[in-house]
Amino acid sequence: MLTSREIRLKSRPVGMPSAENFELAAVSVPDPAPGEVQVKNLWMTVDPYMRGRMNDARSYVPPFQLGEALQGGAVGEVVASADPALKAGDLVQSFFGWREAFNAPAAAVQKLETHGLPPEAFLGYAGMPGLTAYVGLLRIAELKDGDVVFVSGAAGAVGSVACQIAKIKGHTVIGSAGGPEKVKFLRDIGVDHPIDYKAEADLTGAVMRAAPNGIDVYFENVGGAHMEAALMAANQGARFALCGMISDYNSTDMGAGVRGLFLAIAKSLTLKGFIVSNHADMQAAFARDLADWVAAGKMQARETVKHGIESAPDAFLGLFKGENLGKMLVKLA
Ligand code: NDP
Repeated sequence: MLTSREIRLKSRPVGMPSAENFELAAVSVPDPAPGEVQVKNLWMTVDPYMRGRMNDARSYVPPFQLGEALQGGAVGEVVASADPALKAGDLVQSFFGWREAFNAPAAAVQKLETHGLPPEAFLGYAGMPGLTAYVGLLRIAELKDGDVVFVSGAAGAVGSVACQIAKIKGHTVIGSAGGPEKVKFLRDIGVDHPIDYKAEADLTGAVMRAAPNGIDVYFENVGGAHMEAALMAANQGARFALCGMISDYNSTDMGAGVRGLFLAIAKSLTLKGFIVSNHADMQAAFARDLADWVAAGKMQARETVKHGIESAPDAFLGLFKGENLGKMLVKLA
């Protein structure tokens, strides 16, 4: 009998979450029943969307339940199997994050073929965040030759891949992120005009200086003042891929709001929101392109790693304080 520690939702956050909203608990994990596998997680991810699941509200994913382990992406190793589809030593991907180990039906986990990438890459640039960047730019924003691209949250998991895809495809890229270390990272990955929005009293002015002829695509991760800057800098017919608006996720009302939305009319803008899970049909093309880009040394990844299941709430809270450069991950084993 294995003991696994897990993080449970103790109370629903109101506004900015805190450590008190989470609790660490230990459970026993028996031998797997027929048809099940037993998995020890190696890595788990924390993602901004999880904040929405902490509210008791109807959304595209159901809310987390109080007193139960949270859920989210994880990669782990099969340590015991009672199903012929998987054997001990296999790497698997699952949605049973926020815990050290678990039993699950073999069909509820996915065998992970890493193709030479580190397993944790599949929680970041080679996984959901990478696919989000790909879908947002290529399908939602319909990136085309000559577009000037503005990416907010540019030094994060999704944003840093979006910037690199746009650069690979030959575009001028403006990226905004908070702080000098993130700006340096943006330079390292080829962003033409990195903006430290925390050091800019006038973000709109900074974006307009970086793109004197305007922007054609805006990849939205942040909301608020970033959206306003994009509306002001947008060219006629610009396309906005609305991926996330993290600056509003801890609002207790409708959020800070966006001024200048009327510009969407005069400039005939397309503002299109999307959820990556509705675009799974692009996964195969993404995997092929990514493999080529990695092989050609065109895709750089950064990770911010916390250690141990007990650090998972802290890792999650860190997303809202800008503590991560690249993907925020928790290493469990
Ligand atoms: P990140 O790795 O970008 O981490 C979050 C970052 O957001 C922080 O590091 C911080 O960067 C920035 N941030 C946090 N709070 C604020 C704030 N109040 N104002 C401005 N910036 C803030 O996260 P992801 O890459 O995983 O996600 C990026 C966005 O994409 C999120 O909005 C997320 O919800 C969304 N998303 C949407 C998906 C979809 O299907 N539509 C799928 C995946 C993600 P900094 O220091 O630069 O401020």
